[in-house]
Amino acid sequence: MKVFVKEYTVTTSGREDIVNITRLVEEAVRESGIRNGLVLVYVPHATALLIVNEDEPGLRKDYISKLLQLFPRYGDYLHNRIDDNANAHLASAFVGSARIFPLVDGRIVRGTWQEILLVDMDGPRTRRIVVEVLGE
Ligand code: ZN
Repeated sequence: MKVFVKEYTVTTSGREDIVNITRLVEEAVRESGIRNGLVLVYVPHATALLIVNEDEPGLRKDYISKLLQLFPRYGDYLHNRIDDNANAHLASAFVGSARIFPLVDGRIVRGTWQEILLVDMDGPRTRRIVVEVLGE
C-alpha cells in the first residue's frame, strides 16, 4: 500500500467564509498516482470545518446562516471569557474537520452535487488542508 500526503493552504475572507477545495483534493489524488483506496481530507484547525455538499451561491449563504443559527456568535459561552470565538469551536466540533472518500479507478467517488467545502467560522485566516491518499 502506498501513502501520499499533500498539504495546501487557502486564505479566507470575512469572519465566516466558504472555500471550495474539491479541485485541490483532486489534484493531490492525481499527483499521488494512487488509483484505488481512500482519500482523507482534513483541516487541522479548531474553528474551521468541512462540508460535502452542493456549491451554489444561495446554499453557501444557507450553510452560514444555519451554522450561525445553531452556533450564534454572541451566545452565553464560557470560552468567550478568554477568547471571542466559542461559536466557531462549537461549529467545528459538531460538524467535524475531516472527511473520507472512496477512491476508485483514479476518481474520488462523490455525487454530482457533492463538492468539498472548507468553512471558516473564525476568519479571515490562512487555513491548512491536509490530503492523505492511501491505496495502490
Ligand atoms: Zn478560541
